[in-house]
Order: sequence, then C-alpha cells, then structure tokens
Amino acid sequence: MEDCLFCKIIRGEIPSEILLDTEQVCAFSDINPQTPVHIIIVPKKHVAGVDELDADSREVVGDLVLAANRLAREKGIAESGYRLVLNCGPDAGQTVFHLHLHLMGGRRMGAQG
Ligand code: AMP
Ligand code: ZN
Repeated sequence: MEDCLFCKIIRGEIPSEILLDTEQVCAFSDINPQTPVHIIIVPKKHVAGVDELDADSREVVGDLVLAANRLAREKGIAESGYRLVLNCGPDAGQTVFHLHLHLMGGRRMGAQG
C-alpha cells in the first residue's frame, strides 16, 4: 500500500522507534503515547482492519497477540498488567487503516483508559 502510514513505517520510509521486526509483524513506539508503555503492533502484510479479517487471517491475529506477550515481558509489564486495544472503524476512533494492536501499560487504567 503506497500511501499507508504504517506500511511506510514498515518499509523504513518514515522514521520510528522499531521495537520488534519479524517476518510477520513489526512493532514500534506510539508517537503520542497514552500510557508509559504504548506500543503499536502491526502485521507486515497490509490489512485495513478487523472488519477485513476472515478464517484465513487467524494466524495474523495470533501473531499480533504473541508479539504483545513478548514485548510486555521485555518492557517489564507482564506482571503489572496491560491492555490490548484493537480499534475498528469510526465509532472506535480508528485513524490509521492498517490493522494494529495497541499494547498499553505501565500505569493503572480505568474503564475509560
Ligand atoms: P488508532 O486510533 O487505533 O487508529 O491508532 C492510531 C495510533 O497510531 C495512534 O495512537 C497514534 O498516536 C499512532 N500514530 C500515528 N502516527 C504515528 C507514527 N508516525 N508513529 C507511531 N505511531 C503513530
Ligand atoms: Zn498498510
């Protein structure tokens, strides 16, 4: 996807703090962190969002969650806890239409964040 922001980050065309780079997924620090640890985890293959997933996408979702598990350990928040957020569509406030999992932690969160 030529103009997709997260595809550009994956291709290294936009600078970011890359925290994980595997065959399937890429993770980088959120540019506007809402919590002390706020990481964006994306599949390398462009998928617009949850609504585009199907039975063949099971591994994509699994890879994102396992990457979150690994990064939470590396960042020292596996024990204290963390939140995984997948925004889908306008009402959820999705602003970047490349599937991404937010990994957030490092402080106590309430129901609204
Ligand atoms: P969402 O609202 O779920 O679509 O989340 C998009 C997230 O991407 C927001 O938390 C933004 O702060 C983050 N973001 C936007 N641009 C960048 C960027 N260049 N590098 C890292 N994170 C970004
Ligand atoms: Zn993309």
